[in-house]
Amino acid sequence: MPSKVAWGSIKAFKVLGGNGMNYQEKINAIAGLLKITSKALVFTGAGVSTESGIPDYRSSDKGLWHKLDPMRTASVSAMLRDPGAFYDNNLARWASFRQAEPNQAHRAIVALENMGLIQGVITQNIDSLHLKAGSRRVWEVHGHLRTCRCLSCHSHVPFECLLEQYDAKINPPLCQICGGILRPDVVLFEDAMGKEYAAALQAMHGCGLLLVAGSSLQVYPAAGLPELSAQVVIINREPTPWDSRAAVVVHETAGLVFADLLQAIKA
Ligand code: NAD
Repeated sequence: MPSKVAWGSIKAFKVLGGNGMNYQEKINAIAGLLKITSKALVFTGAGVSTESGIPDYRSSDKGLWHKLDPMRTASVSAMLRDPGAFYDNNLARWASFRQAEPNQAHRAIVALENMGLIQGVITQNIDSLHLKAGSRRVWEVHGHLRTCRCLSCHSHVPFECLLEQYDAKINPPLCQICGGILRPDVVLFEDAMGKEYAAALQAMHGCGLLLVAGSSLQVYPAAGLPELSAQVVIINREPTPWDSRAAVVVHETAGLVFADLLQAIKA
């Protein structure tokens, strides 16, 4: 049990967001909650990967949303209207995600899983960084950039097929089997949620604690997942719509918080 936080006070701050606690007390409180909760999960958004050099969408200073409107550039209608422009607008950025390396938040989440304190990580990110870091149970509810599929025959092929053709000036990249247009295996705006989201909903059954990290909680339906947890902890640089309902709220960078959380657990 971490020092300074008594069992009674953990119950007392249940819906107070840790108001009145300093940073270290909040870290100790989250460590305490992890230790007493039988089923805990982590839910991550783009903010967990900004420290790996991948910009998020909605950070008030550097979010991609300030430069381009993903509804117009990364939506199903944009892809179908002009697939060539869709790849011109998105492919270089996605290709850069594939070069990124996990940061200390991803690595600490692996350690929490290995210690049996969390049962896995549900992520909105498409950058594969949780898997690259070594997380074993990962639900990628918005897909990933490891494969793509044909819009006509639905065959799945490695993402490299997109990149190689685009580099060879074949845009839009085409299916080698039927000549149809290839699309990435990510959930675009206007796409239906896939099997992985259904599996994540299943995983949320009986969840006692959800650590939400680096998400503005504005992209639905994934942003509704905290509703399915008995308690929620928010780790985000900026305020979120869930702050007033969370057990603990920490407005700090995810890398720092997860590293400090590991230290508090081990102390
Ligand atoms: P978002 O951009 O809407 O919100 C990110 C939040 O993280 C912001 O509130 C920001 O303040 C916070 N943040 C930024 N850096 C942080 C840090 N180091 N530590 C703590 N907080 C930090 O992201 P979202 O809620 O995930 O929704 C965006 C959608 O865009 C997702 O569906 C995701 O699939 C997609 N997306 C993914 C990636 C990726 O795969 N890395 C990148 C951009 C967008």
